[in-house]
Amino acid sequence: MDYYSSQISKLIEQFSRLPGIGPKSAQRLAFHLIHMPAEQVRELADTMVSARENVRYCKCCHTLTDQEICPICANSKRNHKTIMVVETTRDLAAYEKTGKYDGVYHVLHGAISPMLGVGPNDIKLKELIQRLQQEDVEEVIIATNSSLEGETTAMYISKLIKPTGIKVSRIASGVPVGGDLEYIDEVTLLRALDGRVEL
Ligand code: ZN
Repeated sequence: MDYYSSQISKLIEQFSRLPGIGPKSAQRLAFHLIHMPAEQVRELADTMVSARENVRYCKCCHTLTDQEICPICANSKRNHKTIMVVETTRDLAAYEKTGKYDGVYHVLHGAISPMLGVGPNDIKLKELIQRLQQEDVEEVIIATNSSLEGETTAMYISKLIKPTGIKVSRIASGVPVGGDLEYIDEVTLLRALDGRVEL
């Protein structure tokens, strides 16, 4: 049933396609947007389109960035001999927020999950191994989530890297099982990092 004019209905429908937005929230957002100054709406739309068009993977660590090399990889003050492997750019952001980690990252964009049909070739793992061959790396810290997928991925990576002689460590299990890194507070994150164990 179309209670509203078709343009409003279309807007509500578009919003409800976004994750975490139910029909009620979609309706609220749509009406909010319609009452916003036209210029602000245009700015919002432009920002969305330009982010979608310009954001890509960093050539080095594969995090999302609008430059060829992300600001972290491009920063010569960071310790490029330590690479922390995370599942998503959001996990990277969680560690960056602590301000205490001075190494660089590698973003896998997922985790190995035989159940969901995600294999080693479906995440940015080859790219990590290539990096280790090309760069002078002393330690790889595996900071995948402590879910089954995260643990499977950690085991897989450590088996791949061990023969190269590069030190491989895993963040401590202070992180709750099944917990997404991005929701964990900074203290816990730092404790997990400090308490990492060599694999
Ligand atoms: Zn990067």
